[in-house]
Amino acid sequence: MTRIRWMKLGSSLMACAACAGIAHAAGTNAANACALPPQAAAPGYRDRIEAINRELGVPDGYANRHRLSPVPEASSLVVAGHDVRGRPVRLEPRAAAALRGMIAAAKTRGVELQLVSGYRSADYQAGLLRDKLRRGMTLDSALGINTPPGYSEHQSGCAVDLTTPHSVAADAGFARTPAYAWLTRHAGEFGFHLSYPSGNPNGIEFEPWHWRYVTPDRAEVPGAAPPPHPVGG
Ligand SMILES: [Zn+2]
Repeated sequence: MTRIRWMKLGSSLMACAACAGIAHAAGTNAANACALPPQAAAPGYRDRIEAINRELGVPDGYANRHRLSPVPEASSLVVAGHDVRGRPVRLEPRAAAALRGMIAAAKTRGVELQLVSGYRSADYQAGLLRDKLRRGMTLDSALGINTPPGYSEHQSGCAVDLTTPHSVAADAGFARTPAYAWLTRHAGEFGFHLSYPSGNPNGIEFEPWHWRYVTPDRAEVPGAAPPPHPVGG
């Protein structure tokens, strides 16, 4: 699960790395931060994630060697729903609204979509790695499961991991479920796109559970560019 290329986020996200983890109330007129063009991560954010990665023992140059780019943390988040264990899942406001609509539409077709994971801060990502190291896992093995802090698409608040009853979370078997079949036909109508299809240009393994909100297939802005390629899991 080594991942990530370029993040497609705008200056509104860059401005608030310091307020990561804080969910702000957002109205229906919130800008679609998930569809903004790519921007470089702010220097302060780069410094912070480099410090976190040094503390974890991630080797210098690891991100470059794996062609990873920093993914800024979302500055505006709302609760999109709850995961399979009842914990709130937060997403960027437009992504959250679109996800709720998609889940409701799937339900009318007899398809139950469940949430596994949404927004994760760089600090939370670091905690996932620390837990694995504490349990005796090697750093290499842990990094095979979780991208280094600062480099996960989940930090954008635009990506969500989905599952369905009787499917193992974050397992390739999800691709054999009716839920995945429904998503491949309809997720784009709600703005969600599979980040890592089989044979993706990023060289990342197939992740049928990981969907990123960009903008609906029927673009709201005339002449809007098509969804950019995926950037990180
Ligand atoms: Zn994911």
